[in-house]
Amino acid sequence: MTINQSGWRPERPESDAANAGDTFTGNRALMLEEPLIFEIGGNSTTGVDFDAAPTAGVDRLAGLGRTAAIGLPGLSEPETVRHYTRLSRQNYAIDLGLFPLGSCTMKHNPRLNEKLARLPGFADVHPLQPVDTVQGALGVINELAHWLIRLTGMYGVAMTPKAGAHGELCGILCIKAALEARGENRKVILVPESAHGTNPATAAFAGFAIENIPANADGRVDLDTLKARLGPDVAGVMITNPNTCGLFERDMKAISDAVHAVGGYVYCDGANFNAIVGRVRPGDLGIDAMHINLHKTFSTPHGGGGPGAGPVVLSEALAPYGPLPFTARYADGHIRLIEEETAQDDHPNSFGRMTAFNGQMGMFTRALAYILSHGADGLRQVADDAVLNANYMLRQLEDVLEAPFGASGPCMHEALFSDAGFAEGFTTLDIAKALIDEGYHPMTMYFPLVVHGAMLIEPTETESKAAIDQFIGALRSVVERARAGDPALKAAPHFAPRRRLDETLAARKPVLVWKAPDLPVAAE
Ligand SMILES: *Cc1c(COP(=O)(O)O)cnc(C)c1O
Repeated sequence: MTINQSGWRPERPESDAANAGDTFTGNRALMLEEPLIFEIGGNSTTGVDFDAAPTAGVDRLAGLGRTAAIGLPGLSEPETVRHYTRLSRQNYAIDLGLFPLGSCTMKHNPRLNEKLARLPGFADVHPLQPVDTVQGALGVINELAHWLIRLTGMYGVAMTPKAGAHGELCGILCIKAALEARGENRKVILVPESAHGTNPATAAFAGFAIENIPANADGRVDLDTLKARLGPDVAGVMITNPNTCGLFERDMKAISDAVHAVGGYVYCDGANFNAIVGRVRPGDLGIDAMHINLHKTFSTPHGGGGPGAGPVVLSEALAPYGPLPFTARYADGHIRLIEEETAQDDHPNSFGRMTAFNGQMGMFTRALAYILSHGADGLRQVADDAVLNANYMLRQLEDVLEAPFGASGPCMHEALFSDAGFAEGFTTLDIAKALIDEGYHPMTMYFPLVVHGAMLIEPTETESKAAIDQFIGALRSVVERARAGDPALKAAPHFAPRRRLDETLAARKPVLVWKAPDLPVAAE
């Protein structure tokens, strides 16, 4: 560490010639170096002007009052605001530019949703408020539930799961409860090779054994292999559709029929619903349970770690086992919250509860605002434009990037490329790092696993042609450098505040505890 008058800043790598002319502050133009909050604010200062604690009187802490400083940094409000604003500028956001992460549906979040979610009747309600005082908020949950059922052609919906993976768990627990009700102990869930990593993780977490089903040359589930494996020990399948290769599972109905014929259930990972919303009703494909990521398809913001919302639509066979609580509108217009498994509440077979309360109110309000403002025609156009944009990208880049399934026809909402054709020693990682220099967040890389050095790009429907063309230009230029073996690419990013970090080390051994450095003592 070096120290200067503005505080602590990390040393730059010696080898970094571009940094030879370092600035006094460590800042580079508007890219600002920012120490940790503990390094800025000391224990001796505070941003709050409290009265001194009374020294006499009754001790209401039963002798458990604090005896030593707890080491929180003391900062003034402007110092705090600047700290977090500076940090936020080192991040990439959908409000800054195209966010090509495949499978994540990083699209624009309409400001209308934000406006409605902030209305006090939705934003300031408390989950323990009497039901009669929150009829409007419950109405939003109920109405959204109605539209999710309508859009998917399903029978019921569990609104409480808080993310896609949480929704998967909800669906698998419904399957488990349904099997138990039948008195069966089926142990196996079949998951295709191209599944999202959360699928096998969910099935394993719920106590099932996972068996892999390979993909065919078209990047889709191999129907014959799947059929051959079906039997009385199979609880069900978990299939992502459109799948993680960005392709529609054309055999979905045949898969569902075959699984049902042996008494199993069909879970569909619906995280990629954006590609088919308004065009395909999963209920028509024989699906029993599917989660919908409101934070993807229905544009409730994500990317900063939440919150998400992953309602699960259910078939008639699974709906009786869905979790509590849920809303129900009665003939007199009153909305009730069904909280117990009692027979009088008409939901005696629920597998239980996944969340303490009723789900993510803010996300529900945003999603309903999105659905109602788009209308049926608008939602269909969302799917159409998302698919069109991805296919444009696929065809525009095919001459420099290998598209493993490009020959099998159009893709859905995302374009998938491999690293074939790069010069010896050049990898997908080099492309991702060079994209940072170009001002983009990298695409999803090395996923799905079925494609070597995979690059998965989902432009979404909210990008203009100009924005997509600029991204294509940037990606093309770095791919051409990888094909030509430009050594500078191996050291990218050159312009980011940090260069190549050891991401594995950071993930495996994160340093989560800050230790006060031994401050050099100024000579008197
Ligand atoms: C995003 C995603 C998930 C997981 O959703 P979370 O909300 O992040 O838990 C599952 N499957 C697929 C295909 C996804 O894209």
